[in-house]
Formats: sequence, C-alpha cells, structure tokens
Amino acid sequence: MSDTNTNTDAESVPGNGFPADIDASEIDVGERAESAVERNAKRTPRGLVLRVQDLQKTFGGIRAVDGVSFAVEEGTLTGLIGPNGAGKSTTFNCITGALTPTNGIVYFNGEEVTGQSPHEIANRGLIRTFQIARELEEMTVLENMMLAPGGQSGESLIRAVTPGLRADVVRQERAIRDRAWELLERFELDHLAGEYAGSLSGGQRKLLELARALMADPEMILLDEPLAGVNPTLETKLLERLHELCASGYTFLLVEHDMDVIMNHCDPIIVMHQGSILTVGSSEEIRVDEQVIEAYLGADI
Ligand code: ADP
Ligand code: MG
Repeated sequence: MSDTNTNTDAESVPGNGFPADIDASEIDVGERAESAVERNAKRTPRGLVLRVQDLQKTFGGIRAVDGVSFAVEEGTLTGLIGPNGAGKSTTFNCITGALTPTNGIVYFNGEEVTGQSPHEIANRGLIRTFQIARELEEMTVLENMMLAPGGQSGESLIRAVTPGLRADVVRQERAIRDRAWELLERFELDHLAGEYAGSLSGGQRKLLELARALMADPEMILLDEPLAGVNPTLETKLLERLHELCASGYTFLLVEHDMDVIMNHCDPIIVMHQGSILTVGSSEEIRVDEQVIEAYLGADI
C-alpha cells in the first residue's frame, strides 16, 4: 500500500465534487457545454458503469492481478468470486484508487479514472465500503454518518472562513444531518443513533458501513465481504436493502465468500483465479462450469 494516494482535500476541491451552484458565475458557459459534449463522446456504451481493461498489479514478483478485463452494467448486483489469493481485493483496490495499477485502464461512466486518488474517484460516484475504524468506534452512530467520506465535504471548511458563506455551511450541515437520519431509518439503525459505533453487533456494523457509503450519494459501491460475521436476520435485511438499491439504479460489485449468497443474489458472477478472469456468467452457468469447479477443488475456499 506504499503507493496509496494522499491528495489533500484542498488540492482536489476545485472543479471536483464542488457543488455546481457555488462558483457557477465564474464558469464559462461555452467551456462547460463543450466539456459535456466531450464527456458524452467518451462514454462507454449505455448502461456500462464500470469497465476494467487489462488491469495488472504486481507486488515484487507476485502477479496479484494479471490482465483482468470486465465490465459492470448499471443497476446490477454483480458478484466477484474466486479462491483465496485470486486477486479480488487487489482488483477492488486498483479500481477505487487505494492502489495504483501496474498496467491497464479503469473507466467509470466512460471516463478514465486510472491512478486517481480514492477521494477523486469517490467524488465521481464510485466508492467502496470501509470497516469502521477504531477511532470511529468511540463516536456515535449518527456521528459516524455525519463524518462519512464524501458526506461532509472538504469545501465546507473553506466556506466556513469565507464571509457571506456561513449560511451555506449551516444549510449544508442540515442537509447532511437530514440525509444521515433518512439512511439510518432506511437501515433500521435510527434507534441506535446515539450509541457508540463500537457497541454495535457485527451485522449492525455492516449495515452502518453500507449506510455510510451511501452518504456520499455514489452511483456504484464496491463491497468486500459485507456479510462476514453477520447473523441470518441481519443478512436478509442487508440483502433486501441491496436489491432495493439496485432497483433504484445503484450498481454493486460484491466480493463474498458465502457461495449461497453469491449464487442466489448476484447476476452476473465474475470468477477470478490466480489473477485472471476464469469466466463470467449466471449462477446456473457458473455452477456447472468445469473450470470453476476445478479452480475451487484445488483451493482452500
Ligand atoms: P483475494 O482477495 O482474492 O483473496 P488478494 O487480492 O488479496 O486476493 O491477493 C492476491 C495475491 O496478491 C495473493 O497472492 C496475495 O498474497 C498477494 N498480495 C496482495 N496484497 C499484497 C501486498 N500488499 N503485498 C504483497 N503481496 C500482496
Ligand atoms: Mg480478499
């Protein structure tokens, strides 16, 4: 993780996630129209939110990801599976900017995002869930929501010290609080809003992690084992929320060890093995695929 990008908020504020109304008067309209057209021209075929092309990541001599190409369609709950060490987490990290790929291109909504910082990529609407960090355990559930990456914006600091913009800050903080409550209710965590995050059960934490990711109002969320340690009742709840969110247009890429979950909930399913894509298909296709069966038989699942 030595190549983790450490861009500061201050560096990435201009033109990146900065609400359009703020400096609209300073933006040349012609320039804006042109860039929209340009952006459109570069779009991948309609409906493909994420496209990864020949992605590679090596660590010393290890080829963790070795020429991976796939695309994810809008509104899907796409599964990414493979035996331990297949390269799933490394692929996730290269897509979301936590790692810089050795080679290859990542397109999000038709625009190249390869090598951008996690902050920049999140601002574009592609985000991954994060485990509740130790320091956040000592904050309440509501505070966790308010401090979610992308929820509170870096610009609020700049605006707080700019005369005449304080009213904006107050309005923005209220909007963040409203959104936090709305999501807590949706995830049935509102009754825990005042509890320390550290006191939540494993399943409640996973719900909170997903709710936090939604604070940034992303288009696509990457989930790395969101059901690990979650009891069946909360698992059902979390899966219901994921399907609802898909139906309303959100897109998910899910890494999960529980094969029943993958087979019953994900479509399509991408199978990785030894850094490469073995196959992509529906659960019916994956279940009977000889290569997939072989990859899993020879591995420690
Ligand atoms: P998965 O998530 O599918 O289990 P990973 O992406 O974590 O697989 O790992 C793929 C391969 O890359 C493994 O052989 C792993 O040991 C190696 N690997 C992952 N991260 C690092 C790292 N930071 N440094 C060195 N090797 C790594
Ligand atoms: Mg992993």
